[in-house]
Amino acid sequence: MTGDPIARNGLSPRFWEKKPLAKMSQKEWEALCDGCGKCCLNKLEDEDSGEVALTRVACRLLDDATCRCAHYDTRHHFVPDCIVLRPDNLDTHAYWMPETCAYRLLWQGKPLPEWHPLLTGTAQSVHDAGISVQGWTLSEFDIPEDEWEEHIIEEPT
Ligand code: SF4
Ligand code: SF4
Repeated sequence: MTGDPIARNGLSPRFWEKKPLAKMSQKEWEALCDGCGKCCLNKLEDEDSGEVALTRVACRLLDDATCRCAHYDTRHHFVPDCIVLRPDNLDTHAYWMPETCAYRLLWQGKPLPEWHPLLTGTAQSVHDAGISVQGWTLSEFDIPEDEWEEHIIEEPT
């Protein structure tokens, strides 16, 4: 697989259908990410109903051309509360994660979508399917938090 920022070479075919999430190697776990960038959009949570609304206002470190974190390895220096997703904390986080997120889908016992890079062999397929955040986010540097409500969107699915 060329041009994919996530290492997906050398993995067993359709390993995600054969292994539970908790048994995956670190490489397999990382390879599940489709690179959509939707988890890096800011959300608004209603304290009473628990409902989560997605906004187009992205984390300061998101590069919306690539849909990748600009400083993934050192991100906690800049964004201390960025979640490190693991098999043992999916229960806690699945409710706010994007509907198409591979971690959420597998946690729900659902298959990966046909545009997932593990199935198509190219990272571009998530952008071509219109699922990623490529080119349409606003930076939280430019939008104060009290205006995020004006930028609520429907999740592209
Ligand atoms: S929403 Fe899920 S699949 Fe998409 S970038 Fe985030 S972790 Fe990866
Ligand atoms: S720090 Fe990086 S990985 Fe975390 S939400 Fe921001 S852009 Fe996404």
